[in-house]
Amino acid sequence: MAKIIGSNKLVSDFICPQCAKSVTCGIGFRAGDVANIQYKLGDKVTWNNALTWPEKRPLDGTFSTIGYFECENLHCTSWQDCFPQVQEVLIYIENDCLIKAVPCRYKPEQLDYTVLRVDDDMGVFT
Ligand SMILES: [Zn+2]
Repeated sequence: MAKIIGSNKLVSDFICPQCAKSVTCGIGFRAGDVANIQYKLGDKVTWNNALTWPEKRPLDGTFSTIGYFECENLHCTSWQDCFPQVQEVLIYIENDCLIKAVPCRYKPEQLDYTVLRVDDDMGVFT
């Protein structure tokens, strides 16, 4: 299997779980074509490239995936040693449409863009 490099970006306002401030963040995530595409909630991800994430489009284009963001609030507790910690976000995709992005805690040590089924509580998509 060819290796996918990079990510897309979902620009969204939401409440940072660390500082409780409303922040506008670019959430790095992978879904469909992975080509540094900028999306907002309500947009549909595309599946035009030979290489997609996941490799095969899930049934109905409905799944969820872990994305990553860094809080832009310099006073946030996620900032340590001049760098913000990477935080996780669960992104819900329904019929290829980006529905919502919810901060979550899944596997903070791994940046592996895990793909999950929406109906499968944090179970790994296969
Ligand atoms: Zn914050």
